[in-house]
Amino acid sequence: MNSIVENLKEIAGSLPEGVKLVAVSKTKPVEAIVEAYEAGQRVFGENRVQELAEKYEVLPKDIEWHMIGHLQTNKVKYMAAFVSLIHGVESLKLLETIDKEGKKHDRVIPCLLQFYIASEETKFGLDMEEAKALLESNDYKQMKNVKIVGVMGMATNTDDEVQVRREFHHLKEIFDELKATYFAENPEFKELSMGMSGDYRIAVEEGSTMVRVGSSIFGARNYANI
Ligand SMILES: *Cc1c(COP(=O)(O)O)cnc(C)c1O
Repeated sequence: MNSIVENLKEIAGSLPEGVKLVAVSKTKPVEAIVEAYEAGQRVFGENRVQELAEKYEVLPKDIEWHMIGHLQTNKVKYMAAFVSLIHGVESLKLLETIDKEGKKHDRVIPCLLQFYIASEETKFGLDMEEAKALLESNDYKQMKNVKIVGVMGMATNTDDEVQVRREFHHLKEIFDELKATYFAENPEFKELSMGMSGDYRIAVEEGSTMVRVGSSIFGARNYANI
């Protein structure tokens, strides 16, 4: 197995200009993050709020922390002070909570709307109708402490490249439609978060601006340890 630094260099070096690499460090120890940090990586993704907050406490403060996982409203408060981007917003209720917590910290918290694009029951996300209802709601229009800067999605976990490509293509279409309909005057709406270790190359070809790569950098995760 290659070292974290070698993996990171290889992946970062293969991404086109303008595609951001989110190094997904969930379940991995602080030492592994330090290794990546010392090699220049500054953007890390976690999927549990408690783990995110613990790592934030002890690590350098110029790290950009992304919350990439499924998020419960009662956990938002533990990261509202520092989180750089929340990838998984999939309800108005969650967005309201983020707005409220953002206000307490006098921040505008960047968020992505998560869409359901896979053919797997286990994945979370909005469909287009739900997203439109959210974006057209008075509640959303009154929020001042969140900003939606793009969309996020996960493809089906399959070796079928044609299917994965089709799902990413669909997410790009969703992004384009939302951009044209709701964010045409808003240059900050520009992120398309898609692609993980197994499929980020396809995601980049389909227009991803942000890939979330974990095991290809840090090695396989061992969930038995947590
Ligand atoms: C764990 C996770 C990733 C990274 O997965 P790898 O296959 O290890 O690259 C990306 N996105 C989300 C939402 C995740 O939960």
